[in-house]
Amino acid sequence: MRHTKIIATLGPATDSREALESLVAAGTDVVRLNFSHGDARSRERRVAMIREIAAQTGRTIGILGDLQGPKIRIQRFTGGAVLLEENQPFTLDARMDPEGGTAEAVGVAYPALSRDLSPGDTLLLDDGFIVLSVDSIEGDRIHCRVTQGGRLADNKGINRQGGGLSAPALTDKDREDLQEAAALGVDWVAVSFVRRAEDLHEARDILRALGGAAHIVAKIERAEAIEHLDSIIAAADAVMVARGDLGVETGYAGLTGLQKKILKLTRERHKVAITATQMMESMIHSRVPTRAEVSDVANAVIDGTDAVMLSAETAVGTHPARAVAAMADVCVGAEAYHLTLGRPSHRLDDRFQSVDEAIAMAVMYAANHLDVKCIIALTESGSTPLWMSRIRSDIPIFAFTRHEATKRRVALYRGVYPISFDITHTDAQRVYREIFALLQGMGHVADGDLVIFTRGELSGVAGGTNTMKILRVATETSEDT
Ligand code: PGA
Ligand code: MN
Repeated sequence: MRHTKIIATLGPATDSREALESLVAAGTDVVRLNFSHGDARSRERRVAMIREIAAQTGRTIGILGDLQGPKIRIQRFTGGAVLLEENQPFTLDARMDPEGGTAEAVGVAYPALSRDLSPGDTLLLDDGFIVLSVDSIEGDRIHCRVTQGGRLADNKGINRQGGGLSAPALTDKDREDLQEAAALGVDWVAVSFVRRAEDLHEARDILRALGGAAHIVAKIERAEAIEHLDSIIAAADAVMVARGDLGVETGYAGLTGLQKKILKLTRERHKVAITATQMMESMIHSRVPTRAEVSDVANAVIDGTDAVMLSAETAVGTHPARAVAAMADVCVGAEAYHLTLGRPSHRLDDRFQSVDEAIAMAVMYAANHLDVKCIIALTESGSTPLWMSRIRSDIPIFAFTRHEATKRRVALYRGVYPISFDITHTDAQRVYREIFALLQGMGHVADGDLVIFTRGELSGVAGGTNTMKILRVATETSEDT
């Protein structure tokens, strides 16, 4: 069983029914709707289709809506692109015709940019493929010199090395998109270019006011976010190491160390970690990953990421399902090694905040030191399985819940597998028998296996888990053993 989850970005390459079905069959757990591209109609169509396929195949597929955020972009060239030579002058001009870019100057839609910059600053365009050095600023015109040339096409992004651009995390477009995300009923909303915890509180408040229940993902992709990492993680439900923009803002040399630090902090704080961008980049066209890509995905898995994400590989790639399948293979291979790292020392020295957290930790301690086949968590909100899954283990955690939304949410948690089960409609004496029969039918347990079972005394109440039982599977009787 694969423990690490896979997020696949939807796009033109996954728009046919056949392509989306293969994407799901290859092992996608969560799909990402990128609000930076496409329109509301295309997103609505994609959501409807993924829900149909999930229902037909009986798979639980979560949906993550990824807000564009204040990505600052150049505008357009008369011919779609220009070739920039090293050392030539080039101007970014907030006042020029948005369609009228040339090899001398191009428009930029963010007028405050000239106020955020000073001479000597380094600007990275198109994720660092083009580098400009700021020579002088004259009103809304930023005069630069090209220090790394190449082809520059319409609408490419601009980052300042070291960060420090003033744009707030939530743009007007993001506020509109939050409305759409709430209406679509997505399970996760990712906030791009988060600067500090307040950005996440704001997004969550707006979403709740619109009736959206999605959990919030903080994308760490700005230099400022690194300074406020602790409070950002505390305010988020999940954290994405968004290596594309982060690598541009902070320089890529330090990226791997940062990634490891973010993954560690995120898991320690009982939050969900996602590793994103260029993980299988060559597979946009290639049929096999490079060894460097294999190693990159494996290292994220070994460092405890909950999920690994595919962007262009699936959205515009030549064979999206192959990319998912290859990634799934690498995850399984890396998980085998991960478990040889010894007993986890996760929070051994910490005090627990709540009874359900204490139960979750006790379960994992017992499970990792006893020959337990699986963990069965009867859950309302999914928080007990979340806590359990923060601890390194190869023992699957089955989240039994009556809530579809909880199922889709836990689909992102490492080693957690959702199963529909309505405890409120089941006679207490029959609960074990029914659950064992379900798991036996799926091939996960056999008569005589040890399992650990958790639930709240008052079932149907979120946050009420207070009971842990170690049971031996017996489908013929309902007795505790
Ligand atoms: P993006 O975010 O794909 O929306 O840019 C991810 C990243 O920056 O790595
Ligand atoms: Mn980004």
